[in-house]
Amino acid sequence: MTPFELMTLPYSADALEPVISASTINVHHGKHLAAYVKNLNTLLPGSGLEEASLEEIVCKAEGGILNNAGQIMNHNLYFQQFGGKPVQQAPTGPLKAAITAAFGSFDAFKEAFQKAGATLFGSGWVWLSADKEGKLVITQETNAANPIQKGLKPLLTFDVWEHAYYLDYQNRRPEHLAALWQIVDWTVIEQRYLA
Ligand code: MN
Repeated sequence: MTPFELMTLPYSADALEPVISASTINVHHGKHLAAYVKNLNTLLPGSGLEEASLEEIVCKAEGGILNNAGQIMNHNLYFQQFGGKPVQQAPTGPLKAAITAAFGSFDAFKEAFQKAGATLFGSGWVWLSADKEGKLVITQETNAANPIQKGLKPLLTFDVWEHAYYLDYQNRRPEHLAALWQIVDWTVIEQRYLA
């Protein structure tokens, strides 16, 4: 099998400051995500999934293999959606139209998304995804779950595991979620929606 590799960040560790500090990036990407990659590569031999893609593993596996693969997929989508300034701070075109259709306005969407993240009990992820018809939904997923397990296409995600924000925001998860809009690069989200 070809081992999975730690994704390379498309920006420097301090590029997202002050929203996410370099210290958080270094621990979150360099320690937490790196550990999930190492764990998955250790668990795969003998599992029958040695040649499977990450997406296939997330949809088929169970237990530790599923948890580590899910966390790799989730973090790859998470880290790739941010950009150092300046970023395109709002959706345009078909994605903007779909957000307006589903939530009323971009501001109403952001409020609903933040609320879903703030009220997710324990560790997990809040997601914006598209269904087969391109209709948008917000879902709360616990632990390492990903919307592809429900047949949805994941577009945007906020990580609400404490390791994502505790160094910078301690217990102030809602404040962290509100700040993340400053660094979301909507060109990335649009590409995912149109793919
Ligand atoms: Mn995380």
